[in-house]
Amino acid sequence: MRIGIIGAGHAGIEAAKAASEQGCDVVLFSAENVLPYYRPRLVALAFGQADLAAIQIKPQAWYDQQKISLRLDSRVLGLNPEKREITTSTGVDAFDGLVIACGGTPVMPSFAKKSGPLMTPLWDITHANAIRERIRRNARLVVVGGGILGIEAALHALEAGMSVIIIEKMSRLMPVQFGAKASSALLRRLEEKGVQVLLGRGVADSKEDSGVLKLQLETGEILEADLCLMSIGARPDLALAASACLPCERGIVVDHSLQTPVGSLAAAGDVIQFEGVTRCSMKEASAQGRLAALNLISRLRGLEERAYVPETIPLTFRSKDFEIYAIGETASQGSEEHLLDGSTETLIRALVMKDGIPVGVQMIGTREGFDTYATQVKKAQKK
Ligand SMILES: Cc1cc2nc3c(=O)[nH]c(=O)nc-3n(C[C@H](O)[C@H](O)[C@H](O)COP(=O)(O)OP(=O)(O)OC[C@H]3O[C@@H](n4cnc5c(N)ncnc54)[C@H](O)[C@@H]3O)c2cc1C
Repeated sequence: MRIGIIGAGHAGIEAAKAASEQGCDVVLFSAENVLPYYRPRLVALAFGQADLAAIQIKPQAWYDQQKISLRLDSRVLGLNPEKREITTSTGVDAFDGLVIACGGTPVMPSFAKKSGPLMTPLWDITHANAIRERIRRNARLVVVGGGILGIEAALHALEAGMSVIIIEKMSRLMPVQFGAKASSALLRRLEEKGVQVLLGRGVADSKEDSGVLKLQLETGEILEADLCLMSIGARPDLALAASACLPCERGIVVDHSLQTPVGSLAAAGDVIQFEGVTRCSMKEASAQGRLAALNLISRLRGLEERAYVPETIPLTFRSKDFEIYAIGETASQGSEEHLLDGSTETLIRALVMKDGIPVGVQMIGTREGFDTYATQVKKAQKK
């Protein structure tokens, strides 16, 4: 059985491994020209704290041993679902089944799209290399977006000797994951490190002038930067799926076993929409990649398929003495937040309770007891 996998990210690699373990001939197509790498570690690569070899998922020898034919620099340009054929720049190839694992693309507002090299997202190796070339001590970095990726980039940039400003449109940091107290502790910790955070402000436009970027904020203020990192999220890359007329909403729509309505075509990772939801998670992409491939092969063999059961994955982030953790809900109507022993203005252990049951836990500056509470939150979610 010949299985083609489109995209060699976390979902694609696991799909390839699973298909190879099932004795299939596997071809893994990657649009990128380097061996597949841990995408979250791009931040360390971009700011000079890791090199490419250190962030590779597997060496070339592993693909050879697994009998996975890895085709680098091979973007799939066209897909014919009925014929199960794909087109690359080198020609047409046919398969018994295909797994689409193209991932996502960073959101770039229109002014950022027409901006020059001083404004960049951080989503792939070319972005990381472009940032790396511009790291200088005391260079001014503006990060647009105060989510976890923006915060991580800010910390790495500080370590590289840059001065950093984060611009966040919301009135506090990470409001989906953290309540007001935890958000404010997070802000204070960033400020203590030397990151300036501008809340409640967005960028309206940008201009490059003699090697300096002038960012015009919605308030009319102008901020000068030597580099600007746009970090305002990502969305599924639907270019290929749309060209093949696959059912797409926010992502490629898949069923309970991660198969598309078109026979012999599975999809996994950031590119999919499962039960109406799109996700951006390395762990989930890996789990989905494996199951999507196994179910595809089962379907082709006439065997039973397994349902995908998404797992709630906590936000866990630690960089030296900076650590933040969260899972579940923040306090809202019908629930209340309790600060646990040891909480201060910059160290937070907050538990969100609903009807006497923990439904959310957030910690800033410590992990003490987090795993125990997280288990209880997950249990409550399953009820
Ligand atoms: C800087 C950064 C930090 C992150 N940190 C975290 C974190 O801490 N924790 C976490 O859970 N997640 C994190 N994420 C998100 C995580 O990396 C993604 O959720 C995960 O990579 C999704 O895996 P995927 O396989 O679906 O897609 P991707 O890893 O995006 O891989 C998709 C691959 O498909 C290729 N491709 C696209 N179109 C084609 C085509 N037509 N033909 C061939 N190849 C194609 C792309 O080039 C890409 O290599 C981070 C992401 C970034 C960018």
